Amino acid sequence: MRTPSKAAPKVVPVTAHRYCSIRMPKPPAAELVLTGRRARLVRETAYKWMNGSTLRYAFYAKPARRAGPEAQRDVVRRAFAIWKAQGIGLDFVEVAKPVEADIRIAFDQDPREGSWSAVGTDSLNWDRAAPTMNFGWDLTTDIDTALHEIGHALGFPHEHQNPFAGIVWDEEAVYLSLAKAPNKWSRKKTFDNIIAKIEPDTVQGSRWDPDSIMHYPFEAGLIKKPAKYRQGLTPAGGLSARDIEWVRTFYPSVAAGAVRALAAFQSTPLTLQPGAQADFDFTAPETRDYTVATFGVADTHIALSRDSAVGRQVFAEDDDSGDDRNASVRVALKKGETVRVGVRMRFIEAVGEAAVMVW
Ligand SMILES: [Zn+2]
Repeated sequence: MRTPSKAAPKVVPVTAHRYCSIRMPKPPAAELVLTGRRARLVRETAYKWMNGSTLRYAFYAKPARRAGPEAQRDVVRRAFAIWKAQGIGLDFVEVAKPVEADIRIAFDQDPREGSWSAVGTDSLNWDRAAPTMNFGWDLTTDIDTALHEIGHALGFPHEHQNPFAGIVWDEEAVYLSLAKAPNKWSRKKTFDNIIAKIEPDTVQGSRWDPDSIMHYPFEAGLIKKPAKYRQGLTPAGGLSARDIEWVRTFYPSVAAGAVRALAAFQSTPLTLQPGAQADFDFTAPETRDYTVATFGVADTHIALSRDSAVGRQVFAEDDDSGDDRNASVRVALKKGETVRVGVRMRFIEAVGEAAVMVW
C-alpha cells in the first residue's frame, strides 16, 4: 500500500498593499481597425484631454457613503496641485456639483469598491450621475494613491502592465495573494489589473519605469523575473522623472506667444509631430455659422474652447482618427466672439502635409 504523497503546502506571499483596480477603455471602433505605425501613434494619444483646457473636479456631499471628510479631500486637492506644479498646460478647478464636473470623486469605503478611476477622456462616456474616481481607504498618509488615480484621470495606464517591463509573474502566487484580504480580488480582476500586459500600442514609450507613480509595489514571492525583484519591488514614491517627462509631453505648458491667430478663409500649415498640439485663436468677423476643419493625410482631433467662470471649457470637438475623412466642426459664433482652436495631431504620413482652416 502506498501513502498518497502530499504536495508541500505552497507559501502564499502576504500582500499588505491595497491596490487600485481600473477598467481600461477599448479604442473607439474606427481605431480598432488601424495597424502598424498609425495604430501606435493614434493609441498613444488615446483618452488624453485637449491641452490648455480646465478639468473640473468635484466631491460628493451626499449620499453619505460617497462623501469624504475634509482631511481626505485636502489630500486629493494637494495631489492635483502636485501634478499642476509640473508646469503642465491643463488646469484643475474644484466645482461644487459633481454633475457639472469632468472628474467626480467619491470616498466610498465599501471594501468591494477599493480605489479606482476612469482613464482620461473615457470619463466623458460615463453616467454623469456616477463617480469617475473612488478612494476606498484612508489617504491622509497615502498621497501616492491620490497621485496615482489622478494619473489615470489624465489618461495614463498601469506601468506594471507595460509589455516592455518584461515582468514574469509567479501567476498562481499573484492570484492567491490578491484573493486574500485586504484586496479580495477575483481571478479576473487580478488578471485585468496585474497579469495582463497592456497592448504595446497603448503604453507611453518603450522604457519600463518601475518608479512610476502608475506602478504598484509588490511583495517578495510574486515576481519571478527580473530576478532582482524576487524579493519585492517598491517604487520610489511620488512622481518619477519619467512621469514628469510624459505629462509634460502630452500636456506642455501653453505659452501665450504660442497661440497664433487664425483668419477666416486662410489655410494655415500644421507642422506638428504626432502627439503634438497647436493652438489658435479665432475671432468671428460676423455673426454666422463657421466650419473649422483640417486637411491632409492625417488623423487630427479638433477642439473648440472658450473661457468661462471655471476656466477654459471645450464646447465642440471632432476626431477623425481611423476614418478616411477630415476632422470638421461647425459652430455658430457671434461677431467679435473669440474661440480657441486646439488641434492635436494624432497621426500624419509626413510632418508638414496638413493644414487647418476656418470658413
Ligand atoms: Zn491604478
